Amino acid sequence: MTKNNQEMQENNISFSPTDPTVPVPTPDMGASRVVNADNQGQPVIVIHDVHKIYHLGQTRVPALRGVSLEVSAGEFVAVRGPSGSGKSSFMNIIGCLDRPSKGSYWLTGKEVSRLSNYELARVRNRLIGFVFQGFNLLSRASAQSNVELPMIYAGLTKEMRQRRARQALQLVGLGTRMDHKPAQLSGGQQQRVAIARALVNSPSLLLADEPTGNLDSRTSVEVMAILQALNQQGLTIVLVTHEPDIASYASRQVIFRDGRLIRDEPISNPRDAQAEWDILSTQNPDEDY
Ligand code: ADP
Ligand code: MG
Repeated sequence: MTKNNQEMQENNISFSPTDPTVPVPTPDMGASRVVNADNQGQPVIVIHDVHKIYHLGQTRVPALRGVSLEVSAGEFVAVRGPSGSGKSSFMNIIGCLDRPSKGSYWLTGKEVSRLSNYELARVRNRLIGFVFQGFNLLSRASAQSNVELPMIYAGLTKEMRQRRARQALQLVGLGTRMDHKPAQLSGGQQQRVAIARALVNSPSLLLADEPTGNLDSRTSVEVMAILQALNQQGLTIVLVTHEPDIASYASRQVIFRDGRLIRDEPISNPRDAQAEWDILSTQNPDEDY
């Protein structure tokens, strides 16, 4: 497969992680909580000796070669590694978009590595929120409508959807921008809408794949400040980035090379994105936040 094809395929996978044909079984959808801070310290992800082999005609492409990892509720983990090292293959598996060829995966205590596509989609819709590099917002819909979308699939009443969407948008600092369409928002604000959309079903895990990849460094700080604030409220986050600078806002980083996890280390002094953002905003007080 050419690099382009591969990228297109990756983009297709990531374009619609929420399958509208699969209901979201969420018992507490009416509850006011948006950030899921349940079971702090308990394992959210337990991956044991996972392998992923792609078959291209007669060729076997080993993308993951025995990866094991545990992530507990409340952690903020950055996944790094050079291109081709297996990051996307790994994220597709932890995001329940794909299954391992070998090995096991428990998500919030339930083994998901052998589920059918339908069951996998149910688990995904219920437990995982996704944020991507290209915000994937509907351009003709307001911020509020974009955030309501995953709840339409979940079958919530209009009143409940509106209430939760407002809450989620307030949480990411966009309480006064709810009627704006994406084109009327800055890049950082659009990514914040996408983060609010990822949160409305109260996922146990937020997966962010290069969420600052399309943003300048100043706007990246803005987005990382939101992610850090959500993590401080207890949200579990796994973020893929190729930038060491961005990884240094997390509290732990794991590094892939050639389909293996070669390093797993705490970040002893994570950068404080909110403090950096405060300084940036006073330097440019005219900028619209
Ligand atoms: P990264 O995200 O770190 O760039 P990937 O997980 O995309 O790494 O790729 C790991 C390896 O698996 C690479 O050699 C890549 O070419 C291969 N690969 C990824 N996706 C596919 C696929 N759908 N079919 C065949 N090979 C693939
Ligand atoms: Mg990739």
